[in-house]
Amino acid sequence: MFSIGDEYEIVFTYRPLLRSERHLKDQDGVSHFIRTIVMQDLQSGHTNRIVTRFPPEPNGYLHLGHARSIVLNFELADEFGGTTHLRFDDTNPRAEDAIFVQSMIEDVQWLGYRWERLHYASEYFEHMYDCALVLIRKGLAYVDDCTAEQIRAQRGTLSEPGIDSPYRNRTVEENIALFSAMRAGAFADGAKVLRARIDMRAPNINMRDPVLYRIAHEAHHQTGTQWCIYPMYAFAHPLEDALEGITHSLCTVEFEDQRPFYDWVVRSCEMPHVPKQIEFGRLNVTHTVMSKRKLRAIVQSQEVDGWDDPRLPTLSGMRRRGIPPEAIVSFVKQTGLSKSNGVADIKMLEHIVREQLQLRTPKTMAVLDPLRVIITNYPEGTIEWIEGEYNSDNPSLGSRRIPFGRELFIERDDFLLDPPASFYRLGIGREVRLRHAYFVRCHDVVYDDDGSITALLCTYDPETKSGSGFTGRKVKATIHWVEASHAMPATFALFDHLLDEHADDHDDVRVLPTSRTSTQGYVEHAMADAPIDTRFQLLRHGFFIRDAKVPDQTIYHRIVSLKSSYPK
Ligand code: ATP
Ligand code: MG
Repeated sequence: MFSIGDEYEIVFTYRPLLRSERHLKDQDGVSHFIRTIVMQDLQSGHTNRIVTRFPPEPNGYLHLGHARSIVLNFELADEFGGTTHLRFDDTNPRAEDAIFVQSMIEDVQWLGYRWERLHYASEYFEHMYDCALVLIRKGLAYVDDCTAEQIRAQRGTLSEPGIDSPYRNRTVEENIALFSAMRAGAFADGAKVLRARIDMRAPNINMRDPVLYRIAHEAHHQTGTQWCIYPMYAFAHPLEDALEGITHSLCTVEFEDQRPFYDWVVRSCEMPHVPKQIEFGRLNVTHTVMSKRKLRAIVQSQEVDGWDDPRLPTLSGMRRRGIPPEAIVSFVKQTGLSKSNGVADIKMLEHIVREQLQLRTPKTMAVLDPLRVIITNYPEGTIEWIEGEYNSDNPSLGSRRIPFGRELFIERDDFLLDPPASFYRLGIGREVRLRHAYFVRCHDVVYDDDGSITALLCTYDPETKSGSGFTGRKVKATIHWVEASHAMPATFALFDHLLDEHADDHDDVRVLPTSRTSTQGYVEHAMADAPIDTRFQLLRHGFFIRDAKVPDQTIYHRIVSLKSSYPK
């Protein structure tokens, strides 16, 4: 048994950035080396109208790294009046699934991009088969009976040339007959492959007779059981680009050594349209991983709650986390674009999210670790409704009515039994302002049988109501609170780094136990009725959104905390 794709894998050789390429790096996120190439191609008349594509393989969920490719392809075409195709590179049915197709469609739309055409590589299988026949007739392809291991052994190394397969000199007729029989299902998986006939001594290993087709008796999510041979990615991709009239085929830098083969395929198959492959650096981010393989391992370990766990860098995870799509686009642009792979600081993304949500969100009150407060001089059974502005920096968000009554909750850490002088919040005999409401002074505490504090007894001063213009005396702190009888119980999920800082450098990815903690508390009345996708700025705690995956439960995700450690 062998798995498709893995056995005849592409050889990626990384090379450091050349000095002459360093200037290509441009941090403003608007102008970059690929944009320059496109402008030149339009000016010289090489291209009339640019066509780009975003070509994910539907074998997982899209992540922040893919966002770089999405933003690049769609915005570049848009800027120069061109178009972009969304194309599923579905040549490897064993790893792929229609579920991934669906999620990718949703994710690209969520980021705000619209494609002109949607394609599947599998639409072109018949055409690709014909191209393979063209190569066979030209003596540029042959059927090889060697096993995957034999092929790998023949391939040579960077310093040693490869050796010819004993099947390399089959006649055209024999090759056509065998290739047709492969298609007809005459052979088992792995029994034969179709290979390009180029040069086993080529300095570029990718030109040493790469595999074009392998046998896989595997149903495909688009073509069903119509095919039992499938084209290899490296052969299929240039044909897809050529067939769709893609002018600029933008891919990540590990494909640089594939470019000669890409051009060879287009030329040898005599494709009328010639696309241009251009490579750019991958986006990596600290404290997380950007490879579908590693993400899959994390999801399968069940240490996270599926591909859309709010801690993951998948677009669906970030959506569930409440990160606005505009923040992702802005982050991707601000990381710039260069020829080499780069690592961006996750704090930069958090900073952008914070900046974008600051003015857009209502500021409300929730208590994450509640301590009961009884206002002993407030009449029992009475509720007073206070008008509270949502965000004083953005009056257009309006206001809501906040209930105030005899029993409230405050944060447990807003009270200390024996407070030091530097602590300005509540203690016995101390007075603070309740935000939007009154001054309260604590005069006693209530203990349970174990000696834990279960409630504070306070008095309020009716003269001190917010907005009443009271100037009689001052307090040093304002604390937030919620009225007990109208408060909605809620669970708060707080997130921290998923992985250690340089997780991408090693293979063994361990989800940090601190990545998710949760608390039980209360949110204010107005939050209970808000649409489920409303983002709130909870005073002192950060930006939050309900988990829309479990609408029957009241779970709030912290999108990001309020404090930034990102240098401006
Ligand atoms: P992965 O390693 O996560 O599976 P991939 O490159 O195999 O990534 P594809 O589905 O083939 O995933 O990617 C679709 C497009 O997105 C490709 O053009 C690819 O180069 C690009 N892409 C994938 N990951 C990144 C990244 N981290 N940064 C920039 N572009 C990326
Ligand atoms: Mg891939």
